[in-house]
Amino acid sequence: MTQPSDADARRAAPPVLVYPDTSLTPPPMDLYRRAAQSAREVARVTVPLRDATAIEVPAGHILRLGCPEGPQVGDLNLFARGDLSERFFSGKTRALHGTHVSVGDRLWSCFPHFRPMATIIADSLDWYGIDADGGSVHDVIGTRCDPYTHRLLSGEDYDRCCHSNLTRALAAHEGLSLAEAEAHVHDVLNVFMCTGFTWDSGRYFMKASPVRAGDHLDLFAEIDLLAVMSACPGGDCGAGHSSDHAACHPLSMTVLRLEPQALKGWDSPQRNGYASGHGA
Ligand SMILES: [Zn+2]
Repeated sequence: MTQPSDADARRAAPPVLVYPDTSLTPPPMDLYRRAAQSAREVARVTVPLRDATAIEVPAGHILRLGCPEGPQVGDLNLFARGDLSERFFSGKTRALHGTHVSVGDRLWSCFPHFRPMATIIADSLDWYGIDADGGSVHDVIGTRCDPYTHRLLSGEDYDRCCHSNLTRALAAHEGLSLAEAEAHVHDVLNVFMCTGFTWDSGRYFMKASPVRAGDHLDLFAEIDLLAVMSACPGGDCGAGHSSDHAACHPLSMTVLRLEPQALKGWDSPQRNGYASGHGA
């Protein structure tokens, strides 16, 4: 392999953060924390193992994603309730906040809506940080396990991948056909999953999640939400997925109501102000 004489100099160009931490208006975390003290449970669903469930979350409520029984990874899709065209935008969330998200980070919706759908206000795994392999938890880099890639790589069919679980649950909740629902299923937030890229080759890896029974991730709903979560057939994703081999556990989704007066000063965000003229 030949390289230019100034190759080292070119590589030495300093990295520039595309979106520095100061780019975004910080979320009102003190307000959220104070308001969360008034939280009381109003709805709760179980996400059965190797399956998915949907739940509606009104704006100004907390969605608690829980791991009640044992190590388990969840794949989360978020929609604006009543408008499936507004959905979670994994790629821009990654660009704005990083490969893994935690307290203070927001989950953004797709163009042209592009506003915070939820803000992470509590994470019992926030102690994990970035491990020696470069891994961390709650990633927005993976897409979801799916039967198409499985078929491509193994020649076999498996119907309990997160993609299929999300499709079935969304179809059932919205009264859609599987084909209609599948078109709305999108890249996920990998809840509790521990992932990264290898240092030497930049390959996507997973490792056994540090999540244990009792762990949870709390999302403050900035807008009315429809949340759909799959309990991944990979279990803690320490070995494989797309099969029934891994030990799996259920997950839970709990909606917590906050006292309206505790939310004084908070407003549900408007859609992005760009008028979509695109210079035409
Ligand atoms: Zn999965």
